[in-house]
Amino acid sequence: MVTSSRSFDVVVIGAGPAGGYLAGKVAAAGYEVALVEEHREIGEPIQCGGLVTPRVFEYVHCKETIIGSVHGAELYSPSGRKLVIDGHQTEAVVVQRAMFDRAIATDAVRKGAHTFLGAQAQAARREDGGVEVILDQDGAPKTLRCKLLVGCDGVRSNVAKWFNILRPKKIIPGFEVEMTGVQGDPGYVKLFIGNEIAPGFFGWIIPSGDTARVGLCLGEGNAFAYLERMLLRPEVRQYTKGAQPILYIAGGIPLGFPKRTYADNVLVVGDAACQTKAVSGGGIFTALTCSDLAADAAIDALEAGDYSARMLHRYHRAWTKSIGKELRKDLAIHESFAKLNDEHFEELFDIFDSPDMLELIEKKGDIDFPSKVGWALLREDPRLLKYVGKALRAMIAKNVGL
Ligand SMILES: Cc1cc2nc3c(=O)[nH]c(=O)nc-3n(C[C@H](O)[C@H](O)[C@H](O)COP(=O)(O)OP(=O)(O)OC[C@H]3O[C@@H](n4cnc5c(N)ncnc54)[C@H](O)[C@@H]3O)c2cc1C
Repeated sequence: MVTSSRSFDVVVIGAGPAGGYLAGKVAAAGYEVALVEEHREIGEPIQCGGLVTPRVFEYVHCKETIIGSVHGAELYSPSGRKLVIDGHQTEAVVVQRAMFDRAIATDAVRKGAHTFLGAQAQAARREDGGVEVILDQDGAPKTLRCKLLVGCDGVRSNVAKWFNILRPKKIIPGFEVEMTGVQGDPGYVKLFIGNEIAPGFFGWIIPSGDTARVGLCLGEGNAFAYLERMLLRPEVRQYTKGAQPILYIAGGIPLGFPKRTYADNVLVVGDAACQTKAVSGGGIFTALTCSDLAADAAIDALEAGDYSARMLHRYHRAWTKSIGKELRKDLAIHESFAKLNDEHFEELFDIFDSPDMLELIEKKGDIDFPSKVGWALLREDPRLLKYVGKALRAMIAKNVGL
């Protein structure tokens, strides 16, 4: 069979936030970039709560996709006890995720990137000093050749597999239902903690304009079954009673810290490189931050005409020495949190339920850098030491050994 074939400087697999942003930045530097997406519509299906800090708009210019803003959190303990944390200003915004991804990809196209939609990357191999990628675009085979292949292909990255880049230690399952008719103050995210609700992680209600996203992630198990049970609990039902589902969202969050996010002619970025915050499961801000660094490394490699692993290592070094420090601490905090039982959570609620502690959380809380508040709380109340063995070691390490 004759296959059509085209050549590019860079081929990016996956048009999520990481891929769309990288494609735009490299195209704007004057290089030929292909952005390949297996779905026919960028941004669909949605696999996200869409909660981000306003920091993401330092990278992408699509504030029109914001559908809500949040200034605090209502936290529920396993027994249903409530703590309110109010930052008194916009701490996070909620975006319409499909529109958000499409806006990033549209910007990439404006900057000169070429999109291939409905095109699944099925294989890739090194050939003649570059990479050959085989696509299936709506049943028709296509070959793309490039100097540099960038895997922004999400949590189950094939690019990482094809080039023997280590995969996540664990992918934790998540399930979310978008509902209409959810009650409660839309300025607050609601978080539900406890081993009956979501062992190893937590449940949430994220207000999203006219609707709200009710979901959870788990250390392991059937996330849908847990979500069904969570929806029956009184502390959740006070918000969701009478609400109706309009969209189900399933997905996984990669946890782990890859030793290598590059190979000869190859980079992996975003969920494909486990660049997710293990404390919250959020990955959009970190994907964009790392994508920015990956784009710089790609441009340097193209300018130098050197696509060797030795050259591309600069990307790995750049992200591990910056945002990677926080990601490693977040992983340690998550691992400590996942070991706690419901009695521990109630004890923690006792400790946090004081004006000084709440004020500290309100002042220092930052969903992109959760270790900052963790550290401040530990200094304020040493009783917390009992709960955070591994996390503490990661927080006090001057050089986290990256
Ligand atoms: C239930 C849930 C809720 C979440 N909520 C939040 C939240 O509120 N805030 C937040 O910041 N993060 C959240 N996240 C995490 C966030 O969705 C991801 O971290 C983020 O999407 C990572 O972006 P990415 O560009 O790396 O990958 P993705 O957005 O996953 O994009 C990867 C793209 O690659 C495409 N692709 C994959 N394989 C191929 C192939 N072979 N060929 C062609 N295309 C391919 C996919 O179709 C996809 O479009 C949530 C995750 C889950 C599971």
